[in-house]
This record gives sequence, C-alpha cells and structure tokens, in this order.
Amino acid sequence: MAKRLYTPVKLGNIELSNRIVMGPMGLGYANDGYVSDRLLEFFRQRAKGKPGLIIVGGTQVDKKRYTNTAGLHCFDEKYIPGLKKFTDMIHTESEGKTKIFFQFLHHGRYSKQKDIGGVEAVAPSAVPSPYTKFEMPHALTIDEIREIVGFYGNAARIAKEAGADGIEICTNSGYLIGQFFSPITNKREDEYGGSLENRMRFYFEVVDAIREAVGNDFVVTTRIGGSDLIPGSNTIEDAVKIARAISDCGRIDALSVTGGWHESSVPQVTMEMPWEAFSFLGRTIKDNVDIPVMMSNRLGIEAAERYVEEGALDLAVFARAFLADPEFAKKAAQGRYDEIRYCIGCNQKCLDRLLTGRGIVGCLANVSCGLECDYVNQNKELPDQVISEHKENILVIGAGPAGMEFARVASARGHKVTVCEKNERSGGQMLYAAMPPRRKDIDLLRTYLENVCKNQGVCFITGRKISADETEFLNSFDRIVVATGSKPVIPDIPVEEGADVVMSLDVLSGKKTTGRKVVVAGAGAVGTQVALSLAEEGTPSAEAVRSFLMFGMDTPDNIAAMLNKGTKTVSIVGKKIGKGIGPGTKFSMIARIKQLGVNQYKGFHVIEIKQNGACLEDGEGNREFVDADTVVIALGTTPDNELYEKLKGLGMKAELNVIGDAQKSGYISDAMEAAYELAVTL
Ligand code: SF4
Repeated sequence: MAKRLYTPVKLGNIELSNRIVMGPMGLGYANDGYVSDRLLEFFRQRAKGKPGLIIVGGTQVDKKRYTNTAGLHCFDEKYIPGLKKFTDMIHTESEGKTKIFFQFLHHGRYSKQKDIGGVEAVAPSAVPSPYTKFEMPHALTIDEIREIVGFYGNAARIAKEAGADGIEICTNSGYLIGQFFSPITNKREDEYGGSLENRMRFYFEVVDAIREAVGNDFVVTTRIGGSDLIPGSNTIEDAVKIARAISDCGRIDALSVTGGWHESSVPQVTMEMPWEAFSFLGRTIKDNVDIPVMMSNRLGIEAAERYVEEGALDLAVFARAFLADPEFAKKAAQGRYDEIRYCIGCNQKCLDRLLTGRGIVGCLANVSCGLECDYVNQNKELPDQVISEHKENILVIGAGPAGMEFARVASARGHKVTVCEKNERSGGQMLYAAMPPRRKDIDLLRTYLENVCKNQGVCFITGRKISADETEFLNSFDRIVVATGSKPVIPDIPVEEGADVVMSLDVLSGKKTTGRKVVVAGAGAVGTQVALSLAEEGTPSAEAVRSFLMFGMDTPDNIAAMLNKGTKTVSIVGKKIGKGIGPGTKFSMIARIKQLGVNQYKGFHVIEIKQNGACLEDGEGNREFVDADTVVIALGTTPDNELYEKLKGLGMKAELNVIGDAQKSGYISDAMEAAYELAVTL
C-alpha cells in the first residue's frame, strides 16, 4: 500500500494527487514581472516529477510597490496571457497530476526604495529592518491600507483568470502581513494595532477581498511562521492563536507552517540546523486547528513520510529540494531515496545569490538549475537526459566534485567512464568540507554522485594513483579528463626549528592534533571552519546537553554557557574573517566565532612562526606576537596539475582535458560547473 504522503488529499474543492508540495521560493526568474522562458523551463522540469502542488513564490500584488528584483506580477490584465501559458504548462507536463498556486507576497518594510521603483517602502509602523540596512519605511495610512487590500483582491481575480488552482497568502518570514501580526513592527494605536485581533485585521480584510474576487469555491491557503524567532515578536504560542483564528474563520482551506523571519539570528535553512529541528512548529499548529496543515524547513523525506503517516501533518512542503533535484517527488514516491540529489543546505547558489544580487538563483548540487532554458534541446530535454551520438571511452583521473560530476553526466549520456582516485575514498575536497561540526550534509552530495555514477555503470577504481608513464593504459581511452584537484598553499615564511606547524586539512581529518593554544593562519572558509572546530573542542555534546537539561543539572542559561567554553585558546588571523563564505551562512559562523571567544586578528597575516607562537603584521607594518603551541595553515589552495602538465607533453592519441581545481582553485560549485559544461559537449 502506498505511503500516505503519496496518496491524494483534498484542499477545499480540489484534490491533489499526492501530498508533496513544491514550496514558494524567491527565484527572480521573471522577466520584468512577466513569465519568461527561464521560469517556464525551470518549472517544466519540476512539473515532470509530478508533485501534488507547486506554489509559485514571490508573486507581486501591489502595482505601486512591486519589487523589481522579485517574481511574477499579478496586478494587471496584461500579465494574464503569460500566466495562463504557465499554468497550462504545469497541468500539461504533469499530466494533470500537479496543481499550481500563486503565493501573494507584499514585502512591506522588507523592500528598499531602489528596488520598488523609487517609492517609499511601507509598513504598519515606521520601524526599519536590519534586512534592508534600516531604511525607514512609511507607516501606512488607513486609505493606503484599503488600497493594498484592494490590490490583493485584484490579484486574486487575475490569478483565477490565469488558470491558477489556488492562492497562498504569505504572512510569514517578516513580510507585510507578518509585520502587522507582530508587536515589534506594529506599533499602531488604531484598529490595526494593539490586540492580536486588531493586528490580524489587515489580514482578514485581505481574505475578504480575495474571497469577494474569487468566491468561496476557489482554494485559498495561508502560510504562517510557526514562530518569528525574534525576541519580542510572535512565539509558537502566539502562532497557535493566529492559526486558530485563521482556521476558525472558515474561509481558508489550509495552513502552511514555516520558520521565522528573515532577520532572525537563528539559522533556519542551513546545514547547521539538524534535520527536523523545526517540525515541532507544524505539528503543534496541526494539533490546534481543524484545517489541513503543511510544514516545511529542514524536513527530510523520510520524516515527512512518517509525520504524514501518523497524521501529525497533512502535507509536506519542500522548496530547495526541488532546486537540487527536479525529480524529487517522483524519486521519493518510487522509493529511490539513494538517487535523490538532496539539497545540502549550503545556500551558496540560492540564498546567497538572492542576498547579494550576484548571479541568478541556482544550485550548487544541480548545475542546470535556473539554466534549463539555456541547456534544453528542441524536445525540452536536458543534456543529461540525452544519449550522445559520439560515444567515447573516457578515463577520469580524480573523484572529487569535478571528476564525479563529469562522470555522472558523461555516463548518463552513454559514454563508457572509468574513474581512478588515488585515495581510498571518493569525494576529494567534499570529504574535508563535510568534517567540521554541522557540515556533514555535504556528504549527501558525495554519496549521491557516487550512487548515481555506479548505477549508470561508471567503473570506480580507488586507491589507484595514475602515473604519466602508464602509456598503454592511458592510450586505451579516447579521452582523459584530469580532475586531480588542488593542494594547500604553503607560505614562504620563516619557521623556527621545533615549531609545531600543521595543515588545516590534516586537522579537519583528524590526522594531526594541536596543542592547547592555537593560531589559525588564514581566515577564509577553511580557516574559519578550523577555528570553530578547534574552539568547540571540549564543549558538551548534544547528547550531554540533552541529559543536563532533562535531569535539571544546572539552569538552562548556565548549560548554554558551557557550549561556549572549549578547552583550547584559538586565534584566527586573516584579512577578513569568513572571507569567501556567503552571507546566508557567514552570519551564523561569525556569531559562533564570537560566542566561542576566538581571538580575531583582522587585517593581519603571519610573517614568522616560532616554537611558542606566531609573529603577525598588518598592512601598515604594525606587529603583534600571539602565543601558540601550534600554528594551523589555512591559506588556500593551488591547482594540483602536475599530472596534466606531464600528459600534455606526451602527445597521446587520447583527447586531454583538465577541469575543476586542477585547472583553477575555487569552490565546489565552480568545479561542478566546469565538469558539467565539458560533459554536455561530448
Ligand atoms: Fe540547497 Fe545549496 Fe542548492 Fe541552495 S545551493 S538549493 S542550499 S544545495
């Protein structure tokens, strides 16, 4: 019998074919508010996997204050033809199995004047947000409130005419309606402020306007935060009251529960947060309402199956899971868990790009994400869904992210691929990247690549170092792809005899230990991770903390303080702490560096290593000496391309390519992109 997650469910008057929901995301794929080819091809690939519902995030309703950087516009008739093409495409590609909702979003104080056509951002009260660098919003007048309520009704009419199956009203994450709900952003003294009933008035007026526009048969749902995760703002207890009021109003067909506000200091969608950590929010709401409840945020597929089976949730919402794997719903329904390319919560090509405005939203794990329209052929197939007309016998040297991604795509295209890896395990830099605390989800990507390659017939030979002398072996291939990765940069600085100097990767892998006082030379992603790992040594484990709290060993505050007292004194030295780490992850890592009391020497570099410490110098010639038993070198990497250079000089009959770090040191995402781009040309 099918698990309940994969069985139909009714939402209002419609039935979803299954309970997996592709959740709303800010993608920025719309073209000046219109449906674009990029957006269509992105969603086409997801609709093919047949989730029960796709909710399209960021749909703009306010014709005066729409954000230029956000999603679709739904406030004028001129957008209807494009939106209709979009909804028709979803229904057709999914063979009628997937419904589509538009999520109505108003940024309120979360917009900057420059992003909304030069008009002032609005909010319930003039309370600025750290999310917009404290740009002051304008407190809405009663007339403006009524006008915006009208915009929601107008947008609902347009969405219905455009063939949407429903609408989701966004009240979560700190956007306009949530700003009305919260006592920290709603300081009004009129009928829209004060009591919770008053703070919810704007929302219910929006619901009335939508219902008036689309009638009672059209499906309208609402997304709420299960807790704002902001001091002084709504907690889970408040969220329960909000949810009950929505459920009791009888005009909303389902609730979707997510986590807190964007400006919260609690990491919510990064790999630092354990899977299922926020599921209690959805389950608590479910226990208190009479309408279906869906839940998102770090919800793994197996937990979702369990919760829906038990009736603790009705539907499960996955968002970035669909960036990483368009076929997520299909593979899950077929029990092909090993073949799912999971979102690893790195934020690098999704949230970080949204926050910095650099590049379009993509996915580190899935190179073609967001680029589908650039890669699909005339049959709308991606290159890794098409067999090559010129099959080759290919040797890949190195099983890091570049080597494995190349092998995955090349083997999917029908090439015969052999991967030789000098180490006993595949993974390259992914193995190290997954070692620090709370980074182990990176291993999901390594495991996925290995599983899929093996399923596609790739021959993996580990523990096999290839030498340029093996001409007979090398010449048995049509093509050799060198993906030998990188090696650490060793600084040219004086080191006193007897000084304890170790490389960062040896510390992360546990091959080398350090003394009690440690200087980490280098403050990029690796240096910061090493400093954090070392500073956490000696702090109580999660299981110990659980026991301390359960048995009341000390006050929660004292127990929390123990998490910041490791056994080592750690100092980090570099131009900028956390250089190269994206903003979606950096904020919490820097906060943790401070909590743990890591000494930060910003703007300095190590100029000499002594037995008892490190001499530092800044850009102005100022010097410091830091006591240390051990100095850890984390000064970046340089291409390990010796083999490639030798092979190049041999004039072999095989074609020769170099990809990834072996060509140019960079991020895992750079290595994956280079691999994909080469493989799709073969
Ligand atoms: Fe997930 Fe990272 Fe891909 Fe974003 S870039 S969807 S966090 S794997």
